[in-house]
Amino acid sequence: MAEDKPGTEQNSFWGPEVEEQLRAAFDALPNAVRIMLFTEKGRNDLLNRAAQDLLRSFSRISKKVVLSEFDLNSEEARKLNVESAPALVFEPDRYSVKYMGVPYGEEGRTLVGMILLIGFHTSNMSEQSLNVMKRIGGRREIKVFVSPTCPYCPDEALNAVKAAIERPDMVSLEIIDIQSNQETANRYSAFSVPQAFANDILIARGAQPEELFVASLEKLEQQTVFIPETDAEIIETDVVIVGGGPAGLATGIYTVRSGLRTAVIERGALGGQVATTPVVENYPGFARVPGKTLVDILVSHALEYVQIFQGEEVVEIRPGERIEVQTGRRRYIARALVLATGANYKKLGVTGEMNFMGRGVSYCATCDGPLFKNRKVVVIGGGNSAVTEALHLHNIGVQTVLVHRRNSLRAQEHLAKNIFSNNIEVLWDTEVLEIRGREKVAEVVLRNNRTGEVYPFPVQGVFVAIGYEPSVELAKSVGVELSPDGFIKHDAHHRTNIPGIYSAGDVEGGYKQIVTAMGQGTEAALSVFEDLHHPYWTSELEKPGGIAKM
Ligand code: NAP
Repeated sequence: MAEDKPGTEQNSFWGPEVEEQLRAAFDALPNAVRIMLFTEKGRNDLLNRAAQDLLRSFSRISKKVVLSEFDLNSEEARKLNVESAPALVFEPDRYSVKYMGVPYGEEGRTLVGMILLIGFHTSNMSEQSLNVMKRIGGRREIKVFVSPTCPYCPDEALNAVKAAIERPDMVSLEIIDIQSNQETANRYSAFSVPQAFANDILIARGAQPEELFVASLEKLEQQTVFIPETDAEIIETDVVIVGGGPAGLATGIYTVRSGLRTAVIERGALGGQVATTPVVENYPGFARVPGKTLVDILVSHALEYVQIFQGEEVVEIRPGERIEVQTGRRRYIARALVLATGANYKKLGVTGEMNFMGRGVSYCATCDGPLFKNRKVVVIGGGNSAVTEALHLHNIGVQTVLVHRRNSLRAQEHLAKNIFSNNIEVLWDTEVLEIRGREKVAEVVLRNNRTGEVYPFPVQGVFVAIGYEPSVELAKSVGVELSPDGFIKHDAHHRTNIPGIYSAGDVEGGYKQIVTAMGQGTEAALSVFEDLHHPYWTSELEKPGGIAKM
């Protein structure tokens, strides 16, 4: 059993401020949370030790976290079917929830979320999700693959934890850290995270809003649209911002500071593309900062002002004097709407890409890179993203080859230089024609554009970093006009063609830098403020409500 020595050891995982916040949250739990930690001597020593240090630190914070430690060869391990270590089992008398591996890095959020949910004995699910959970009539054995470097993973893992808490009679859960459980990840060909399986059927690739996860769990098939079944809660506000990346969060800070009630809605992880950028070197004021750290700073700043509704997907927008925004969970009624929906990874469009997505084809080196340590991968592209990702992969021990279709890089010189100084191999004038393999990627077929030579190139991973496409589905669905190159058409005030609807950030095109996205968000917020006080769509003589067409 772990020794309980409150306050006697220095905690290396967090500072005193975070520790105080965790203590307050855990102490307030109505129920203690029993965590059984299984370790094994002589195998995976580093990971077992890391799990012990981490869990002991948690148990020292509060008496509500009750840790007991066991050997993998113990009777308890046999009884609970724990077959590898390190592993955590939570409240086995009440739930069937295991964590295989060490929940450090980003996964710390999963661990904290698990303790809080289990300590309350509540799933905290939305009414929409609860309706679906009630209908589940057969057993669901969930496996969620995660990694400590993946900012999207805790959301998906916690969706599954909620399901296991809500229906302990039907749902069992294993959260599997791919770094500590590479064999299991191989068996499921889970080469991207997060991925969720139920009864060994893939039900989700990437993090989903809670309602979509639950719908996928019920149907045992990945669902992409969730339409709420009941008339959900209504929130009246001044401004709704769709998108929780740098543009959306900057907009929110400025609208609230202008005195406007504001809701930011984000379906996935906060921070947009920055959250998965390994290192940012061109955000003024920070010489070198991991993208996720920058996001954490930005989010905590934004939270001082604006309410963020994360994990909610907007399914419909009805423009008008009162703009209605329907999500999978509730309805918002606002006077202005800012679309800061950002951009999605561009696909290569070659044979094999879709088939091997998550099985060797990846769009996120930060999330999936660790799985490819000591393996050979190609990074496709010649812009800032490709170069940043290639450097990151190289630095974490992945054998990295950059494949670029031209003979010079588009990336900023400062970044490009590092490719050469790190001796990263570059295949110039080369395009990928096909991605091949059986269960997972085994090779790419390359063509040298100068010589015309076509040849197979054995690799285990393909990281695609060829730019982004604006996320304009919502804009299109309400009739917002787009520019010929597919971005939202807007004026200098970030107004779109629809009165009351504005845009900001990468969805507008332009330079697509963090700092420009924030600038666009700031400008949009100031325009919203001006326009709500002096609506440009009404003349002085018109009564409010007479919305004129532009
Ligand atoms: P990008 O600048 O548009 O570069 C895309 C790269 O992919 C180009 O080299 C392009 O080749 C290549 N490409 C495009 N389609 C291709 C295809 N079908 N097959 C093969 N190659 C293809 O995109 P990005 O690098 O993702 O950057 C997007 C924006 O984010 C940029 O504004 C960038 O500055 C910003 N960003 C900044 C940072 C940073 O500063 N740290 C990091 C990441 C991104 P060609 O050169 O031949 O066109």
